[in-house]
Amino acid sequence: MDISSGTGVAVSVEVIRALVRGSVHDLCVPGHEPPVSPPGRPAGGTHAPCRRLFKLLLQGSCRFDCTYCTLRNSRWDLSLTPGEAAGLFLGMQARGEADGLFLSSGVGDDTESVMHDLVETGEILRKQGYTGYLHLKILPGAGRADITDAARVADRISINLEVPSAGRMSEVTQVKDYRSDLLTRLSWIREARPFGHTTQMVLGASGETDREVFRRVAWLYGRMQVSRVYYAPFRPLPGTPMEDHPPAPFWRAWRWYQLDSLMRTYQFGPAGLEVLFDGDGMLRNQDPKEVLAEIHGPVDLLTANRTDLLRVPGIGPQTADRLIAERAAGGIRDLSDCTACGVNLKRAGPHLVLGGRAPAQRPLSDFTA
Ligand code: SF4
Repeated sequence: MDISSGTGVAVSVEVIRALVRGSVHDLCVPGHEPPVSPPGRPAGGTHAPCRRLFKLLLQGSCRFDCTYCTLRNSRWDLSLTPGEAAGLFLGMQARGEADGLFLSSGVGDDTESVMHDLVETGEILRKQGYTGYLHLKILPGAGRADITDAARVADRISINLEVPSAGRMSEVTQVKDYRSDLLTRLSWIREARPFGHTTQMVLGASGETDREVFRRVAWLYGRMQVSRVYYAPFRPLPGTPMEDHPPAPFWRAWRWYQLDSLMRTYQFGPAGLEVLFDGDGMLRNQDPKEVLAEIHGPVDLLTANRTDLLRVPGIGPQTADRLIAERAAGGIRDLSDCTACGVNLKRAGPHLVLGGRAPAQRPLSDFTA
């Protein structure tokens, strides 16, 4: 069965289904990639709002051999031309079925040709007047000119590192070269679209520790101007060499998103976060902010600086700023004053003191001069 695309081109439903299925492992949440750059950093490009993201592979075969991936060493005749992919999406957009496109691909036999097709799909969409969210995958080994073109036409671009180092990469592929296929391309991406690109790490596929992942992620945010790192827990897929490998627990990815938030939203430096890892270099299954609060002990609401306040569970950046302003105006005299600033007392209470004492032990009169 074929369906007619927005440009009148007929596309096989079976091919489309297979290419959509193949795209599920790529992560992208447009509303949670920063629309603008952090203060003081260069702009990361436009970022149209998007609620119905359509994810699609342009080609379903790959010459690489990643041991966890069903596309490895595949030679399936599953592909769309740029015109077919653009037409398919425009048809869906016209019917209200999608308002954003994430376009990825297997690498096929010829990286350059597939990368050209990805960029050309984006160019067709823009020429047809599409102004919504467009995310283009950068393939391992892609050429510099194609990366520049992809950055020009798309709202976001990304290359997936998947593992934290060349040593770990050798655990999952004998073909892909971490430095030249990925890190060199990442540096070109940074130049083409600073703070407008993302990447993805697979947790538990290469025997890596969380500390190794952390050091790579800190480098990505600090040096490579990545706007967002996604974390996928490893799942063994039937038919792959790792089908009998144990899956990573879901909580590991959840704790990684919490730790990532401390780096991106709270802007905690890497040095202060190294304490989160146990002797084996792993995170424990506990909110990293709770762990930090336990390690550093109670924070005094009347004297703590912003960094110390931010370490308290239940106090975020805006709440910390409101607390400091209210404190300067003499408005913090008891815990009840904090709730008006947005403090979640259920979480924060056990980690706070007022004037050196647990709040419940200190009479209100102590604070009324
Ligand atoms: S490069 Fe990507 S698509 Fe190809 S085998 Fe590796 S993970 Fe799969």
